[in-house]
Amino acid sequence: MQMRKFGVHMQRISHILISHLHGDHFFGLAGLLSTMNLLGRDKGVTLYGPPELEDILHKIFSVGGNKMSFNVEFKALSFEEKTLLFEDEKIELWSFPLKHRIPTCGFQVKEKPKPYRIDSKKCKEAGVELHQMASLVSGRNIELNGEEVDFRRFTLTPKHSYSYSYCSDTAFDERIIPFIENSDVLYHEATFSSKHADRAKKTYHSTAGQAALIAEKAKVKKLILGHFSSRYSEVEDLQKEAQEIFPLTLCAEDGLLITLDSSQ
Ligand SMILES: [Zn+2]
Repeated sequence: MQMRKFGVHMQRISHILISHLHGDHFFGLAGLLSTMNLLGRDKGVTLYGPPELEDILHKIFSVGGNKMSFNVEFKALSFEEKTLLFEDEKIELWSFPLKHRIPTCGFQVKEKPKPYRIDSKKCKEAGVELHQMASLVSGRNIELNGEEVDFRRFTLTPKHSYSYSYCSDTAFDERIIPFIENSDVLYHEATFSSKHADRAKKTYHSTAGQAALIAEKAKVKKLILGHFSSRYSEVEDLQKEAQEIFPLTLCAEDGLLITLDSSQ
């Protein structure tokens, strides 16, 4: 419903990640897949989730007797270590274990290093040929007038490769820091304020301050808080609590768009 409201095209989705099997994190999945089906989808979807999810979905769809018009390829998550789930020529997709009441994974999407940019002025001056530029963009030296020349002489640094890490739901756990270090954006749950730190501990959730501490220690560039308890009618206090530790903190809301620094 929210995807439709905000103009996100659900048929463009090719991978779905389910962190854990608490209802607020996966009850919408059957509806989403069913809507994709009703809209006549034929392109397959890869679904990552806890092993039990495959059977749950199978039961939901088989009782109705309807056949799906597209293939759902299921891949079970590992809750033991950081795992590469998927990669193509541009991105890597990782999962890593969080600390929650039931097995839960966080996720990270990471752009691969981008090609070096050609310094066309320098190339022209030195007479670098077109076919040599392919070597330069991939960081390989070239031969000019019988001598090997360092590729850096004719290239500019690659554009920045962005990364996004997603941690929900989790208790405060410093073991996740190496998994998310230097992310451009970290989403971290902040179900409670520090006033309810005891409740956070009991339910394996985090406070806003704890999320900020993780962001600071992991040296991320931006923190987005979410998964707020419904007891808070205003989330400004949670944002303030986090900003005292990590100033670049935002509170997530549906439809929020974040622009990353494209000059990098
Ligand atoms: Zn949960």
